Amino acid sequence: MPQQPAPKPQPLITLLDDTLANQIAAGEVVERPASVVKELVENALDAGAQNITITVEEAGQRRIQVRDDGCGIGQNQLELALCRHATSKIKTTEDLFAITSLGFRGEALPSIASVSRFSMTSRSADAADAWQISTEGGNTPRIKPAAHPIGTTVTVDDLFFNTPARRKFLKAARTEAEHITDAVVRLAMAHPYVSFSLIADGNESLHFDAAQGDLLEGTLPRLADFMGRDFISNAITIDATRDALRIKGFVGLPTYNISTPRRQYLFVNNRPVKDRTLLAAFKHAYHDLLAHNRHPAGVLFLDIPPREVDVNVHPAKAEVRFKNSSDVFALIRGGVRRSLEAHSQTVSNTGTAQALRSFQMGRQPLSHVQIKAQLGRGKHVPMSDFTQTPSQGGWVSQPTIGGYGRPPSFDLADQPQAVSQGAATAEAAHASATHFSAHPLGAAVAQLHTTYIIAQTDDGMIMVDQHAAHERLVYERLKHQILQKKVEQQPLLIPDVVELAKADAALVAEYAEELQTFGLEVEQFGPAAIAVRATPALLGHMNSKTLLNDLVEDLRELKQGISLQTRLEETLSTMACHGSIRAGKRLTIDEMNALLRQMEQTPNSAQCNHGRPTYVKLSRNDIEKLFGRR
Ligand code: ADP
Ligand code: MG
Repeated sequence: MPQQPAPKPQPLITLLDDTLANQIAAGEVVERPASVVKELVENALDAGAQNITITVEEAGQRRIQVRDDGCGIGQNQLELALCRHATSKIKTTEDLFAITSLGFRGEALPSIASVSRFSMTSRSADAADAWQISTEGGNTPRIKPAAHPIGTTVTVDDLFFNTPARRKFLKAARTEAEHITDAVVRLAMAHPYVSFSLIADGNESLHFDAAQGDLLEGTLPRLADFMGRDFISNAITIDATRDALRIKGFVGLPTYNISTPRRQYLFVNNRPVKDRTLLAAFKHAYHDLLAHNRHPAGVLFLDIPPREVDVNVHPAKAEVRFKNSSDVFALIRGGVRRSLEAHSQTVSNTGTAQALRSFQMGRQPLSHVQIKAQLGRGKHVPMSDFTQTPSQGGWVSQPTIGGYGRPPSFDLADQPQAVSQGAATAEAAHASATHFSAHPLGAAVAQLHTTYIIAQTDDGMIMVDQHAAHERLVYERLKHQILQKKVEQQPLLIPDVVELAKADAALVAEYAEELQTFGLEVEQFGPAAIAVRATPALLGHMNSKTLLNDLVEDLRELKQGISLQTRLEETLSTMACHGSIRAGKRLTIDEMNALLRQMEQTPNSAQCNHGRPTYVKLSRNDIEKLFGRR
């Protein structure tokens, strides 16, 4: 018989001492120097400060100091402020579910004090003198008289000096410094009426004066710092309500899109949060305006009655939970979508600005660094400034032959197709110009490279990407026909048989009924092939093989959950892309004008289904600047 192992002796249970308990809490609350900055600035905001100065040394590892002119703390309360679960912000369970302050857990100060050399100097409004409390690693604090105006200064030195393991997890100083800046800007964005200053190693790296007037307006200067000027000139405002909920903010035009979701910022009752539901709702608003792998940018402020949101779900209060998240989802998705549709004829001006710069800068467009330096001068820099600084070798002093520096009309004359077409259509173009130039998208005058349409408008010119524009038209028309349940079909005389992987063929067959509503008739043809019997008439002749391969990708994602309606619309945009006028098709002036007129009638026609602009605009003003007439 094998011997039974001796039973394990029961280990003794003991109550942790306060310091250790605080250090454990610090593990969650104080992840890095930026978390300390965040907690201290939140305390200053909760104290009603008007001015907040943050000083850091060595990316916060040597020193973090936050000074405010808030209500201050009286001498007899100082020691309590450093105790765990000591807070002035809530008193009852009831309060916990209707939080209006940034803090409420009573954990930040004791946690921070337990992992640093900590001191807090404060004077409350009704006190004649200031007092200072200090502690090292959370040991018994000392209190002594000090000098300080009404308000509080908290100094945190040598963070993690007594928990070296945590220190090891810190990233390079530059990264930690970026986190600090990010934390300050996020809080500053949500509190535009408070002035902020961040001083890093003796240099003021951020400065925001207190804003006046409207909240959104007031946020703008901070927004420029946070999101970049490029974002501001490509963003539209949103302000929508649904019962007691309100969403306001700035969202990027669909044509201003990026490869990651990191430029999306959310505030719930002025608290910076990360929330997947809200972010998903935001992305959803762009669903058929952007390609799958592109992301919109935006800054959104949600106001919600405090009872409708639970902020006590995350130790650093970075996440929240909504009582009724579907209402919030609907408000964000709907509000953003409506704003986008109201601006559906607006294109990102980044393309125009880049085009202008290319024209103006000759063969040496400004480097990124130069542009940054220009923008860094503070006030908005008009385009003309870019050309007039002698050190940049502007186009005036550097005439170039060919390439970027050439006025567009030369390029036009040089194009063989434009020449041949030019003579034949000169009359038509002239007639068109007198006829249509009052229309928003103007009168077609020429086609370049059988790909771009040039149109003259009352106040400038427009260049249209014919494929992108047609793709959007086809898509919107097909969507309309589907809504009306009247999709015209074009039966194929001989079905197109496309071979696919077994699983893919089965997948397409499974969705045959849905695809039929789009006018696409497919049928399983043996285990590993699909026969296409009819296509939507609008799409004209399509390459069934590439279409089906793209559809399979869409349907796979459909399998993964997201709403049927949305995914099908994406499928639709895939189909529209296959059925559009390809670049390279020669168009007559009449056909071009027809396309322009249709674009004016079509929702969202400023971008194709993948978020690329369908046209760019040069105002007469811009053109005159190019030629030094202004
Ligand atoms: P919480 O913010 O969750 O209440 P903290 O540990 O951050 O917990 O702060 C404890 C208490 O100390 C606060 O409730 C507040 O009363 C006081 N306090 C902290 N910082 C300040 C400050 N800068 N000005 C005035 N009071 C402060
Ligand atoms: Mg706090």
